Amino acid sequence: MLSVTRMDLDGPTSPTALVMKILKSEPSLTLPIPIEAIARQLDITDIVEIEAEGFVGGLITDTSRSAGSILVRRGLMEERRRFTVGHELGHFLMRHHKGAAEGFRCTAVDMRRNQRVGELTPAMRWEVEANEFSSLLLMPPQLWRREMAGFRRPEIGQVTEMAQRFAVSKEAAARTFASYHELPIAMVVVKDGKFERVYRNISKFPKLCVTHGMPIPVGSVFHRAKNISGKVTDLVEARAEEWLESDWGKPMPALSEQVQFQAGGYALIMLWAEMEEQDDEYDPDDDRTAKQRLADRVSRSNR
Ligand SMILES: [Zn+2]
Repeated sequence: MLSVTRMDLDGPTSPTALVMKILKSEPSLTLPIPIEAIARQLDITDIVEIEAEGFVGGLITDTSRSAGSILVRRGLMEERRRFTVGHELGHFLMRHHKGAAEGFRCTAVDMRRNQRVGELTPAMRWEVEANEFSSLLLMPPQLWRREMAGFRRPEIGQVTEMAQRFAVSKEAAARTFASYHELPIAMVVVKDGKFERVYRNISKFPKLCVTHGMPIPVGSVFHRAKNISGKVTDLVEARAEEWLESDWGKPMPALSEQVQFQAGGYALIMLWAEMEEQDDEYDPDDDRTAKQRLADRVSRSNR
């Protein structure tokens, strides 16, 4: 039985503050997070499936937020439906979000907005906040880290495993995987052999030199493995110089990669940078090129 009420959510309404208060009021939530029950507990009177064109989710409410109805497009996959309910609940609880006269109508693009950088209109910023709220509530950091504690070295299959445990999409899980991981991990989304987007913890994982629309680097195992949906490659050495921006004067970190092929021309690539040699063992007289260092590493690991 849930007991949280909107009275418990008084005060600041940032996504983090709201989710922390919900979790504090519901300390014994089990996975997957019962997002629809939480929404109903917080005065969402109904969750209605509709035949919708052009939007994925919506919220009907009034300016005083006395109650709300969430709309979800009929036929959404369960994980997307859960994310959408979380997103609309976020708009409902963040009172500074102002919908149009008919409430909020959120598109697939809105549901993916996750960057706070650049010029954002207030409406775009609200979409980012609604997504942050939904992600945090569906994948609470404490519960995520507790589940991750059972894994040893990073493997791309763990993303699928975590997506199942939390009942979120693989992409949402990939993003959280990279941002909460204690190691420098990046997750690259590939479509038809081209780089779509990357999720990384910007304080841990170095900046990539590959950007949206560029082909996946020629040296990647992506090109050597059989592209069969569901197939996962081994974790292998990657060519750091093909993936990462060079930071002049500093050696490139060693980089490993692992690919998981998916349906519809998609693939996910996990990149794992080993940063430890950067600061402690940096030797300014070491003028080996990145290629030579890679060769050294490969020959060491082949011994
Ligand atoms: Zn929205």
